[in-house]
Amino acid sequence: MLYTIEYLTEKIKESEKPYDLDKITAAYEVANDAHKGVKRSSGEPYITHPIAVACILLEFYMDTDTLCAALLHDVVEDTDVTLDSLRKRFGDDVANLVDGVTKIGQVPLNNTKEEQQAENTRKILIAMSKDIRVIIIKLADRLHNMRTIMYRPPEKQRKKALETMNFYAPIAHRLGMSAVKEEMEDISIKILDPYGSKMIEDMLNKHKEQRDTFIDVIKNRIRDRIQDIQPPPTIEGRVKSVYSIYKKVYVKGKSFDEIYDIYAVRVIVSTVIECYNVLGIIHDIFKPIPYRFKDYIATPKPNRYQSLHTTVIGREGIPFEVQIRTYEMHNTAQYGIAAHWKYKAGISGKVSGEKRFDWIRHIIEQQQDTDDIEQIADAIKVDLSPDDVYVFTPKGDVITLPAGSTIIDFAYAIHTQVGNRMTGAKVGGKLIRFDYQLHTGDIVEVMTSSSACPNRNWLEIAKTNEARSKIRSWFKRECRDENIREGMTAIENEFRRNKMIPDDEFIQDLAHIQHFDNKEDFYAAIGYGGVILSKIMQRAKDMYSARHGASDATEDSSGIGYTGRRRSGVIVDGMENCLVKFAKCCNPLPGDDIIGFITRGYGVSVHKTDCMNVQSSPPEDKERWIKVAWAAANESDSYNATIDIIAEDRTALIADVTAVIAGNRIPIRHITAHNLKNGNGNIIVTVEVASVEQLTNLIARICKISGIISAERTGIV
Ligand code: MN
Repeated sequence: MLYTIEYLTEKIKESEKPYDLDKITAAYEVANDAHKGVKRSSGEPYITHPIAVACILLEFYMDTDTLCAALLHDVVEDTDVTLDSLRKRFGDDVANLVDGVTKIGQVPLNNTKEEQQAENTRKILIAMSKDIRVIIIKLADRLHNMRTIMYRPPEKQRKKALETMNFYAPIAHRLGMSAVKEEMEDISIKILDPYGSKMIEDMLNKHKEQRDTFIDVIKNRIRDRIQDIQPPPTIEGRVKSVYSIYKKVYVKGKSFDEIYDIYAVRVIVSTVIECYNVLGIIHDIFKPIPYRFKDYIATPKPNRYQSLHTTVIGREGIPFEVQIRTYEMHNTAQYGIAAHWKYKAGISGKVSGEKRFDWIRHIIEQQQDTDDIEQIADAIKVDLSPDDVYVFTPKGDVITLPAGSTIIDFAYAIHTQVGNRMTGAKVGGKLIRFDYQLHTGDIVEVMTSSSACPNRNWLEIAKTNEARSKIRSWFKRECRDENIREGMTAIENEFRRNKMIPDDEFIQDLAHIQHFDNKEDFYAAIGYGGVILSKIMQRAKDMYSARHGASDATEDSSGIGYTGRRRSGVIVDGMENCLVKFAKCCNPLPGDDIIGFITRGYGVSVHKTDCMNVQSSPPEDKERWIKVAWAAANESDSYNATIDIIAEDRTALIADVTAVIAGNRIPIRHITAHNLKNGNGNIIVTVEVASVEQLTNLIARICKISGIISAERTGIV
């Protein structure tokens, strides 16, 4: 068969359908020009292929735009013609169909996967075909390629046959296009198992004459009994497809004799009532085999197939299957979804909406009487979860990710090392940004380098917890020093933004609250993302304002201030883990008698019992004073205490005082000195001590320094 534009034109005219021949011819001319000089493996001009595809679609009575798209289906991928130019010349529909066919043609099909993977791939192919005509064109394309497969090298033949068997034939089946399905399977099985399929063909051929006679006899007997029906029914007899017999012999392990339905006779009538009438007549002529009757008219198959099936035994003792259906059912059985264009020429096959459909339930609910192609196409819209995206590796493995996922999620879903070493990725051959959101059907190629490593901002970009936790553990392991630096910088920046100037102790305390042993671990955790800074900031702010905040002015009507320290060295009566701070007015030290004041919102402030502010507390605050006590001394605990020193003014006085303090290994927090009007000097020094005892000892030593007039503990700094 030589496919030429003349042949196609003739067939179009024969169809007597309202095709736009000018548009189709124009599409042919663009395609013919684009493919000029290129030959198929068969040696024929390339243009014969798109014409053949258009011819197949014409047999399905597909519309003008589908035929145009069929003629143009390879130009965008294989030639210089652009999608835009097609859009301008032939409109959105044709351009979108060509684009769709090109895209699903690029999906890599993995032939080695188990059934679930294959099923996913099939669903994605259908889902990618937003317009159902896309997949119908693709099936016609593949069918013609299979018809001419013998011109390809053997390894290509095998690959294409496997793909056809695994993906395209099941899709054709799902769409109810049984003629396409059977032809694809029969061609493929000959390539995949030449020996096995030859055996079946031989067995079938062996008794060909006998069989032909047998079928003719049966047809005549049926025809005799139903000749009253007008218009006269069509009666067809045939041997079932090679592959359907092959499956029964080799897959189900039946012997050739056991197969009932090698022969099938079909009776096609005009009405449903006639179907059941004919069934009764058949059962009267031949002996039905029990349990072999199936009523697919009352209960259509999921792919909309309808027929009555019964298996009977003739006089010769040979069983055969009889299928009874109306012409319309017959069309649906042959062409499936495509048959609907036959009755509704010019109708669009676009799938509207993103609704998820339960295909089987839909069919049962809708019954078989809908002719609305929108509904049918909707029903075919496969049941992939709308919350997920399904993308391919270059080998055709399907990776399922939550919607919104990025190439980072994809890379880590493949393997941790692929993620850690990713330098970038291509989708459909084009480099894309890291924050590109993947779409169902994308083919993602990850580029890696052994020297590459994750970037910290991937944590913000990645969508899946899996990817994020893998990135975090990489940072945790690989770069502790860097993490610590990152964490410190992050904290500084965040605190500065909040106008907080934390000291080391504050950070240390914050680290403890987050269950870190030391602040390095804490910084590192912030660095690799184990601690999300924004999540702990509120607490940090509360802590900070408890220590430095406006509480001085607002909380204590008496003007009591606080030291900037929080210690766990105090037990508050009846309260565990109570936030405690020390009042600045008296700076209590372990050993002092103390009492607590319940503040509004910042825990308990601890005063010395003999503090002025306790003595002068207003009666209405009486309820807020509670009992507190020093806990067992902890070596690492230390407290601020201030000493007020008066001395004769002399050189090196300050040096002597600080030398004594340092000699006792007591840290100095703050020191000021100035001259009094009477000529004496005044030094006020704040030190860090563990107890009253230590402070008392220190004061005693200071008093021994020459020229010291007095040295006293004081509450006010
Ligand atoms: Mn093609």
